[in-house]
Amino acid sequence: MRKPLLEFSVQRVSSRDEIAPEVFMLRFERPWEFRAGQVVALRLEEGEPHRLYSLAGGENEKDAAVLFDLNPEGSLTPRLARLQPGDSLRVSHPFGFFTDDERPAWWLATGTGLAPFLSMVRSLDIRNKTLVHGGRGEASFYFQEELSASLGARYIRCSSTGEGKGAYPGRLTAWLGAQEQLDPGLHYYLCGSAEMVVDVRDLLISRGVPFEHVRAEIYF
Ligand SMILES: Cc1cc2nc3c(=O)[nH]c(=O)nc-3n(C[C@H](O)[C@H](O)[C@H](O)COP(=O)(O)OP(=O)(O)OC[C@H]3O[C@@H](n4cnc5c(N)ncnc54)[C@H](O)[C@@H]3O)c2cc1C
Repeated sequence: MRKPLLEFSVQRVSSRDEIAPEVFMLRFERPWEFRAGQVVALRLEEGEPHRLYSLAGGENEKDAAVLFDLNPEGSLTPRLARLQPGDSLRVSHPFGFFTDDERPAWWLATGTGLAPFLSMVRSLDIRNKTLVHGGRGEASFYFQEELSASLGARYIRCSSTGEGKGAYPGRLTAWLGAQEQLDPGLHYYLCGSAEMVVDVRDLLISRGVPFEHVRAEIYF
């Protein structure tokens, strides 16, 4: 018999917190090692379709964590949002190559696309990293205190509604477009919706960033 592409193990939920309206952080037992930027597949019942989630916790944290937003009409997220500590879920081994190294990089995220970078902030040497997070407003900038403390002025918030003290009043793409220079020597990591990734990648390439310096994780 052919081995399934993904193997799942049953893990216990340790916590489930609504950290912003309809945005949840789910923590569960971590039986494996992983690299910041990798994803896992999750499902609740054996045999049902899985969904992919970036690991959002640090590589050395006891539990694994994922950050997700609720799709009220979706198949999995409404059920994930109702999980309680002690409940079980089915988790694949971590996989994926959206991982970073010591080279200078800009990390560009919208919404829960923050997840892999949150893991990187909690795991890597971040002295030459800049994180730009786009969201609708104050409530979208979850973990802003931690990120400000870790990255200082290299943590930039872009607020599409204009709300949010100290945030750039506009979308992430507007902030990027307003930069006088985009360093072609930097590496750019993009994570979020397909629309955001396409817009940002086009902008970077049109401003002289080589294609091979742009890496993306699309949450389709
Ligand atoms: C590599 C990768 C990493 C990801 N990481 C994350 C992450 O860290 N955090 C995160 O929040 N998400 C992440 N995602 C997205 C995630 O995998 C799920 O797609 C998302 O959570 C929605 O799952 P769901 O089962 O609730 O919704 P789904 O059932 O997949 O539905 C999604 C939307 O499609 C609509 N829909 C469903 N079926 C139909 C239909 N038949 N006709 C019309 N519309 C329909 C629903 O109304 C809903 O709005 C990632 C995706 C990828 C590919």
